[in-house]
Amino acid sequence: MFLLKTVKALQRHLDEVRATGDAVGFVPTMGALHEGHSALIQHSIDEGLHTLVSIYVNPAQFNDSEDLQKYPRNVGRDVELLHNLGCHVLFLPGDAEIYPKNDMTPIDLDLGNLETTLEGAFRPGHFEGVVRVMERLLKIVEPDYLFMGQKDLQQLIVVRRLIQEMGLKVQLEGLPIVREITGLALSSRNERLTKSQREKAVVIYATLHDIQTNFINYPLAELRTLAKTRVRSAGLKMEYFEFVNGHTLEILQEHQDGEDDIFAVIAVWCGEVRLIDNMKMEP
Ligand code: AMP
Repeated sequence: MFLLKTVKALQRHLDEVRATGDAVGFVPTMGALHEGHSALIQHSIDEGLHTLVSIYVNPAQFNDSEDLQKYPRNVGRDVELLHNLGCHVLFLPGDAEIYPKNDMTPIDLDLGNLETTLEGAFRPGHFEGVVRVMERLLKIVEPDYLFMGQKDLQQLIVVRRLIQEMGLKVQLEGLPIVREITGLALSSRNERLTKSQREKAVVIYATLHDIQTNFINYPLAELRTLAKTRVRSAGLKMEYFEFVNGHTLEILQEHQDGEDDIFAVIAVWCGEVRLIDNMKMEP
């Protein structure tokens, strides 16, 4: 595996790869890699793509400086994991490579409700930061394929919009959420949970699953109340629980005719750790 730290070195490498006719699959991450990341990387490798993983903890997308400071980092372990997976390139840039001259100017892209709803409402400026780094990374890498997780549903939709607006040819694929046996969605932030918090956090999946099972039988308002009550009674602090359209993220108040692309989305605090999850509501 090549470990490259500068844009120049990476682009030189990618030029050589493309000259051989190979296509590039890109998996952007913030490190502290787990099996959720591995699934994306393995998928790219299995597709026969020259697979590039980036690790960059993007300061621009953290609205909370403590969250940035406490974000888990373990590059040594990440390198080992990537090597064992058979990843072809790790891009490990410093801030100066991503934001030359400390340029943090926001990108001129109107995300409409995508920026202000759900995660956008609770993490002001977050998606501006996501768009900023993804625009830069996509321009640097120019991948043929981009693999991201459905775990961050809103981020996936935002990046899809960015790709459309930039007129890029890259194929974006959203891959399913990888969970622990308990159902807890894997997340780098789980590393910060204590054993008892981890046990409590299982209620998130259990609730989503029960809501999915009962989805067609009850009004959405009733399901929302049930979900919030259950999560709170397990000792977690609720930020939001909503039913949304999986393309537009429009919040749904009532069942609709022919509903097929509906997701329940949730954000909670488990102690000092913020966790998000979602599940498609199969009719
Ligand atoms: P992050 O390092 O948290 O920025 O995540 C990098 C990529 O991995 C994003 O596309 C995430 O959606 C994806 N990802 C994170 N956790 C999971 C998971 N449990 N299952 C699938 N994809 C995930």
